[in-house]
Amino acid sequence: MVHIIGAGPASLVAGINLAKRGVEVVIHEQKSEVASRFNGDFQGIENWSTDMDALEFLSSIGISINFLCEPYSIGHYYGPNLRKHELKTSRTLFYLVKRGTAPDSIDQGLKKQAIDSGVTIKWNDKIEKISYPITIVGTGPRAADVVAKGIIFKTSHPDACYGFLDNRIAPKGYAYLLVNKGDATFATVLYEDFPKTNDYFLKAYEIMKRVVDIEINEPKEFGGYGNFVLNHNSRNRSDVLLVGEAAGFQDALWGFGLRYAMLSGYLAAKSILTGTSYFQLCKEEIRPRMETSLANRWLFAHLGNFGYGRILNYLTGHKDIIGLLRRQHEPTRFKRLVFQLAKKWYHTRLINKECMHQNCDCIWCRHCKENYKSGEVLLR
Ligand SMILES: Cc1cc2nc3c(=O)[nH]c(=O)nc-3n(C[C@H](O)[C@H](O)[C@H](O)COP(=O)(O)OP(=O)(O)OC[C@H]3O[C@@H](n4cnc5c(N)ncnc54)[C@H](O)[C@@H]3O)c2cc1C
Repeated sequence: MVHIIGAGPASLVAGINLAKRGVEVVIHEQKSEVASRFNGDFQGIENWSTDMDALEFLSSIGISINFLCEPYSIGHYYGPNLRKHELKTSRTLFYLVKRGTAPDSIDQGLKKQAIDSGVTIKWNDKIEKISYPITIVGTGPRAADVVAKGIIFKTSHPDACYGFLDNRIAPKGYAYLLVNKGDATFATVLYEDFPKTNDYFLKAYEIMKRVVDIEINEPKEFGGYGNFVLNHNSRNRSDVLLVGEAAGFQDALWGFGLRYAMLSGYLAAKSILTGTSYFQLCKEEIRPRMETSLANRWLFAHLGNFGYGRILNYLTGHKDIIGLLRRQHEPTRFKRLVFQLAKKWYHTRLINKECMHQNCDCIWCRHCKENYKSGEVLLR
């Protein structure tokens, strides 16, 4: 039997793949529903980092589409001078999905697939200490390297995607507006200056209202955070597999962590089913991408407002930005060099900030590596 802690996308994908091949799976979820940290906000499954289309990717990891999953290609993008850029793509740029407890959310879709495959989910079951023989840990982010603050609302605006690059409203990040069939999500995503998140959100909101003619009904606030610590692979244990953001698997560049989460869940299942080392699978399929994304984060963070304008001008002239974006995600020699620099730059983020004390025995603390390797571990 395999025990999985947390019922996020990483865990559910792991559970689906194991149960479909006859393994008994129990998922322990601390809340009474999936995706309680989300509020019906829209997210995107990015479609630029690989040649393989994201829908094909989902099918390749055993997931079928029983949730809202709408292709978006055309978007309107604004730099700090509020000049509008329309970027051309040869294929879908991202697939819009909904997060949270709504019936058409990706979370409910994955939950249904897990239950249909035979997975048992134990709700309101917060696990403090791992005491099962084989455990997958998919408990989500442990620290905040990136913070998002936004609203969801109703609108009569047609379906659309808007993006904003401006350090005055989203330091080293971006703001976005997504509209789908009368529902909308607007948020700013910050990579620094977190105490001023509300101020940035209000400024971002003003800017968005200045350039988009949109009516806003029944607004509800939401927020969240993510982390991209890279400490996972130091923990090479075959009976406790960290997946998704619990392992720090997240796109350091822009926070598109869903594909990382689901891929790692699939790899954890594959490792258990085939006896292949999970560490090795992650080293081959996730680690190089994570390193490239951290290099990209470092480069992006140094562009500044002037650089954002230049980049948007450059992209506007291109027939297909997908190819350009994909090349940026490939691990090249240049990116490996930048990664060495970025690793030092983001040093404090690459270790766990919550548990830097010595001799604890939690799963994430680098100081308790030996405890982790040999004995029981705590989830805190
Ligand atoms: C505002 C926001 C916008 C985002 N936008 C995008 C986007 O557009 N595209 C994209 O690809 N990614 C996006 N992301 C990132 C994406 O949401 C995450 O990368 C993804 O949800 C990670 O999945 P996970 O399975 O690792 O963890 P989670 O989705 O966090 O799930 C973890 C689960 O574990 C449970 N849990 C935690 N501790 C315990 C415990 N001790 N015992 C039992 N259960 C426990 C939690 O309740 C939760 O259900 C966004 C994130 C945020 C916050």
